[in-house]
Amino acid sequence: EKQVPHPQENLCPPRVLLFPLPEQGHVNRMLKLAEVLALAGLHVTFLTTPFIHNRLTRHNDIETRFASYPGFLLKTISDGLPEDHPRSGERKMELFISLNTVTKRLLKHMLATHQLGSNLSPSVSCIIADGTLAGFTTDIATELQIPILHFHGFCACAFWACSSIPNLIVTGELPVRDMDKLVTGVSGMESFLRFRDLPSFCRASDTKDPILQGIARETRHISRGQGLILHTFEELEGPILSHIRTKYPNIYSIAPIHTHLKLKLKLKHANKEVSSQPFNSLFEIDRTCMTWLDAQPLNSVIYVSFGSTTVMTNDQLMEFWYGLVKSKQRFLWAIRHDMVHIQGEGDDGKNNIPAELTEGTKERGYMVGWAPQEEVLEHPSVCGFLTHSGMNSILESIMAGVPMICWPYHADQQVISRCVSVMWKIGLDMKDVCERNIVEKMVNDLMVERREEFQKAVDDYRRLAIKSVSEGGSSYSNLDRLIQDIHKMND
Ligand code: UDP
Repeated sequence: EKQVPHPQENLCPPRVLLFPLPEQGHVNRMLKLAEVLALAGLHVTFLTTPFIHNRLTRHNDIETRFASYPGFLLKTISDGLPEDHPRSGERKMELFISLNTVTKRLLKHMLATHQLGSNLSPSVSCIIADGTLAGFTTDIATELQIPILHFHGFCACAFWACSSIPNLIVTGELPVRDMDKLVTGVSGMESFLRFRDLPSFCRASDTKDPILQGIARETRHISRGQGLILHTFEELEGPILSHIRTKYPNIYSIAPIHTHLKLKLKLKHANKEVSSQPFNSLFEIDRTCMTWLDAQPLNSVIYVSFGSTTVMTNDQLMEFWYGLVKSKQRFLWAIRHDMVHIQGEGDDGKNNIPAELTEGTKERGYMVGWAPQEEVLEHPSVCGFLTHSGMNSILESIMAGVPMICWPYHADQQVISRCVSVMWKIGLDMKDVCERNIVEKMVNDLMVERREEFQKAVDDYRRLAIKSVSEGGSSYSNLDRLIQDIHKMND
């Protein structure tokens, strides 16, 4: 099967197919890239699973948002799992297997039969696929002779560490023996990367572990594509990007994508501030926290959120809660309804909350299920962020000039939190500990004792990021080059 060119081709802008891993963080950045490309005049097809599509349309008026872009299509493709099948946590592997079999077959057929285009631009001239799905998407692209780029959400350091997994296995550095020793097999990071800071998959006790092997394989497949889009910027990770270029020569480092989008929307609307209302949320946003923030003093609140997939035990939740209350700082905490994994049966912990915590929270805290995070971080009352260190969250925090405490959960987050503390020096790393006294101390260090030092560092990176997305800056130019390259693929 080969995608047969349509007679109307070349009369229209190229059509780009964007296909994220069906998860919140991946959908967020891919949907923002989709809109940035649509603003540049490209025809875009955003393809995701019905599971994600239904949640997106339930919580956001997404169809109206994209109606003004000619040729913008929202399409769905099955992930092959029943509707009520769990898709995260321990069951995530089943999602990957199903995507690699059922979805692969469907995607190939949809592309070959022009089901992902419109009457005006029926065929896809370029695929931008999630870097974690590089294997099967590149197989299809190669077979149908469609150029493919991959968009990876890991920071450059984490991506480079994943690319180095085969080397770490060959040299015997994996499996890990001493978590606190420095890793020698990830070039450019020998001075600060401990085994504890490697991507979480590297903690597997057996190097044949299917997830470890899967990550190494998908990372390798990326080099079969025409280029790699990374969610970082040159000024943040330039030296490591140079290392990556030795293996993946065509890199587009375009972060922060949410800032590009804001700037381009502002330009489109003749410099009028455009509503920053989120449009990509898979959860119901509780905006009451904005009113609460309005009532708090300037620079007084730490925002706490562990992203869309972190799961913790009830004991860990209690340690954080005690630490926050004992710190005596004001806090806004986004706790997803499915974030806490209850141990044991019958007791969901809700009836046993000590009065100390409820009173402390009533006095100085506020909790919501899901917050409008970008807006929260930009609120003048917020001056600290306790985060799981997902890359979207880190970039949003840098752009808002908010220093952070990192409690990494999985994947690239272990690497990112190390970069935050020792490379960028914009916050603290609380990796692998969860104790109320440490939470209390770190919150006070961030908000009071070492505040000036962290604030200065994060402000410096914020300035660099702004420069990077401004005309002539590195992210600006890389995004521009990406758009030009997509046009060339259509020639
Ligand atoms: N987010 C949000 N409200 C919340 C928590 C998170 O809007 O209460 C958004 C956040 O702004 C970010 C995304 O969800 O864009 C999470 O992505 P990230 O890469 O930080 O972590 P992931 O969820 O992928 O682990």
